[in-house]
Amino acid sequence: MGEGYGSYIVDAKKNVSIPNIISENSHVQEGGRGKPQFCKAKQKIAIIIPFRNREPHLTIWLQYMLPFLQKQQGDFGIYVVEQIRNTTFNRAKLMNVGFSEAKKDYDYNCFIFSDVDIIPMNDRNLYRCSENPKHMANSLDKFNFRLPYETIFGGVVAFTKEQFLKINGFSNRFWGWGGEDDELYNRIVAAGMKIERPDPEIARSTMIFHNRDTGNEATGKSFGLINKAAQFMHLDGLSSLKYDVIKHTRHKLYTNITVNIGTQL
Ligand code: UDP
Ligand code: MN
Repeated sequence: MGEGYGSYIVDAKKNVSIPNIISENSHVQEGGRGKPQFCKAKQKIAIIIPFRNREPHLTIWLQYMLPFLQKQQGDFGIYVVEQIRNTTFNRAKLMNVGFSEAKKDYDYNCFIFSDVDIIPMNDRNLYRCSENPKHMANSLDKFNFRLPYETIFGGVVAFTKEQFLKINGFSNRFWGWGGEDDELYNRIVAAGMKIERPDPEIARSTMIFHNRDTGNEATGKSFGLINKAAQFMHLDGLSSLKYDVIKHTRHKLYTNITVNIGTQL
């Protein structure tokens, strides 16, 4: 890429405000849509963010990521999929909802599933899809920029539409913290695909410090499903997804989809 690309510091305590972000990103359209001004992008990218009660993180994420995605000449849309408050959090199911809803908006062919608290620190880290599902968050500060274990596939991951359909999306059955990302990894392997990871120097990213959220406790109840991915992936996922959209709002910087995804049976 050209001049002016490279690493920078992410200041998670930076004093940022939505009106300022709006005025600094005048090319971003209603619903958080961006497009390169002088060329046509090959990939149409939906960024899906699972969300509940993390407003300060979302503001920081937008502050850094809107300029980042525009600088990378992305043709993108931002989707914040918010789970209503009364039930245990289910990150993976929210990802499936985001995929299904974003598809209705535009002919997206690349889906990047990102935690709201992870921000790359180098804009050479291309937020694009590849030949294989891609683990973008392979070099996180919280893990000293190393993989804590070989098969980790969490945080930020990118799939083409075909890749995601091939594994029937995420499992819908992981309630509370943990396991859904490892199950996702097993789906990819079961489908005969490989994982791609960018150069860890370029992929250096930060996770904004936080404590475990209320309503997202690790119960471990679903962990038994991790190694059953091959067995269940065709029954449990996009094909069995059920949810009710409570609210669908086009904010200036993102589209919010508030959903009732039910509760653990
Ligand atoms: N999340 C959220 N609200 C919650 C719990 C989780 O918005 O109450 C979302 C958010 O995008 C977060 C992601 O789910 O980054 C993963 O959860 P968490 O950050 O707790 O996982 P970890 O830091 O352990 O990877
Ligand atoms: Mn986190």
